[in-house]
Amino acid sequence: MLKIEAPDNLAEIREKVHTGERLSFEDGLRLFESNNLLEIGRLANVVRERLHGDKAYFSHKYRLYPTNICMYRCRFCAFRVSKGDERGYEWPAEKTLHELSKVDLSGVSEFHIVGGVHPDWGFDVYLDLIQELHRAYPGIHLKAWTAVEIDAFTHLTGKSIRWVLEKMREAGLGSLPGGGAEIFDWEIRRTICRTKCTGERWLEVHQTAHEMGMKTNSTMLYGHLEMPESKVDHMLRLRDLQDLTGGFRTFIPLAFHPDNTRLKHLPRSTGADDLKHIAIGRLFLDNIPHVMAYWVTETPEVAQVALSFGADDLDGTLMVNEEIISAAGGEHVEGAMSKNQFARMIWEAGRAPLERDTDFNVVRVY
Ligand code: SF4
Repeated sequence: MLKIEAPDNLAEIREKVHTGERLSFEDGLRLFESNNLLEIGRLANVVRERLHGDKAYFSHKYRLYPTNICMYRCRFCAFRVSKGDERGYEWPAEKTLHELSKVDLSGVSEFHIVGGVHPDWGFDVYLDLIQELHRAYPGIHLKAWTAVEIDAFTHLTGKSIRWVLEKMREAGLGSLPGGGAEIFDWEIRRTICRTKCTGERWLEVHQTAHEMGMKTNSTMLYGHLEMPESKVDHMLRLRDLQDLTGGFRTFIPLAFHPDNTRLKHLPRSTGADDLKHIAIGRLFLDNIPHVMAYWVTETPEVAQVALSFGADDLDGTLMVNEEIISAAGGEHVEGAMSKNQFARMIWEAGRAPLERDTDFNVVRVY
């Protein structure tokens, strides 16, 4: 009997993955267009295990959002409010230190600090916050301000990106998070966040940080108006910069949460979408060491599976101030997950849990 087999669109990619050959733009498109989720995940797992074996990282960090008042109006953002809105809050240095004095920060290795671009705050307010946090907690790494904020500081001061980063570093800044990248493609970006910095500017901020010896993270927001082409273009630009500088630690695909945003008519990404973006990120970004599954947006259950779909990092434990996702209706932000719960989640997914610091030095083996 004649047996008709479905065409194997991933055969060439499979070959490249096994020989370690770099994937092309067309390969990236083919991956996004494929419905063969299990095979994409299997291939990503080959790369993941080649790089990290069974290791799965998490960190004990504290997230700080100094203000939700923002002069930008990104359509996908449920976090921002306008000045004068009763939901607005402001935590400059003094208020932040006061609030932190009530929190048990033992064992915390990192403050992750991002927020709105306040229309009335000068550069000194942001600088002061870094300085005072560094003075009060010299042992805790300060990973602060997205490229969007750094770009805004250059406008506030009339100075260069390098000048701003040098001042911040003198104050105690350790590295930059990866937020604000969204999607670089201007055709999409001008629709979802036209007023904040361009993709080119985001890359310029990170390139400057890398050239100064600072490590940074990278992200990509998916599940809104983007096309497969814009996602492959986005990852290609990250990969090109990484070839040049080697300064990215991690790639974090971020699922868009539509609730309470101006794009609330869009459906939320599914677990299959989330796993696919993680896997394609691992396959395409062959020069970025780590790929993170962000359990707050993707759920702990999907994050566990993601550890076999390319991810080797599950972000951190202490999420009590996770304002951004909770504003958009995220369901997995109530309270913090303890280190033991985190380690158990990783064990149950068949991986070996390692607590890490910001630079992926191992703090504790579980
Ligand atoms: S995503 Fe950031 S820059 Fe855009 S509106 Fe929200 S807080 Fe402001």
